[in-house]
Amino acid sequence: MTDDIPAAGYRGRFAPSPTGPLHFGSLIAALGSYLQARRQGGEWWLRIEDIDPPREAPGAREAILASLEAHGLHWDGPVQYQSQRLERYAQCLQRLAAEGRLYACACSRKRIAEHGERRGGTLHYPGWCRERNLAFVPGRARRLDTRNLIIDFEDRIQGPQRLIPAEEGGDFVLQRADGLYSYQLAVAVDDAEQGMTEVVRGSDLLASTPRQIAIQRLLGLPTPVYAHLPVAVDAQGRKLSKQNRAPALDARRAGENLWRALHFLGQRPPTELRGALPATVLDWAREYWSLKKVPRTAAMELSADVPPAGE
Ligand SMILES: [Zn+2]
Repeated sequence: MTDDIPAAGYRGRFAPSPTGPLHFGSLIAALGSYLQARRQGGEWWLRIEDIDPPREAPGAREAILASLEAHGLHWDGPVQYQSQRLERYAQCLQRLAAEGRLYACACSRKRIAEHGERRGGTLHYPGWCRERNLAFVPGRARRLDTRNLIIDFEDRIQGPQRLIPAEEGGDFVLQRADGLYSYQLAVAVDDAEQGMTEVVRGSDLLASTPRQIAIQRLLGLPTPVYAHLPVAVDAQGRKLSKQNRAPALDARRAGENLWRALHFLGQRPPTELRGALPATVLDWAREYWSLKKVPRTAAMELSADVPPAGE
């Protein structure tokens, strides 16, 4: 055991949105969470976060599953789909509403963008509708009243974190005006209720984590441990993402992709493993994976991360 979470009962997950095929940035998150689970004899689940149909791409689910299989990243149990949990999210909202933690908001995105405050690059919603007692009717968002909330947690890679929503971001949306449930709500409830003991994912989600912890606390749900991996950025500092048209993973180069992802994550895979079959690379990785070797940074440039062959 190289890390300090007990093997018994470990459960982790990878949770992509079906907005497009996996790219190298998603492979880093998938591989990191997979190895953190498997190194400790734990389970690794797959959850498809399909609660935003307008953003989904046709065929993306199938492409994601095929890509994970091609890279030898086999998950436990049936695939979880958030689209099958909508009733549960509704119950959680009812509970928060009954406890006076939720209010209806009639502000348009445009109004908030034009008149809201910007604090440290984040758009801050100043709680205009908090005292209006608006009815919960279609066309109005539902926001969490975050007054008096302070969320502290220790990230296993990024270190101590604190969010005071009243000072940063403000009351956030749990159900959108179009009726769709927010990412924060669905992930918070699923991670807790699906028994995740640790969440390993990209640091691009670090700002979401305290909001998800807040939801778990208010609902009396358990909170997992968190480890946010560095994300890959290009020379201009832009994250590899579907929005930036990062290329889809090439399944024919699966072994090389895994090797490069391991290298990016600071694991120092032996050069002779480059281009080996995925199963061979993963055999090595399950044995030698250590969270302690992962660089303690939020982002790293990708182009500079692969040493010349023969190093
Ligand atoms: Zn409002």
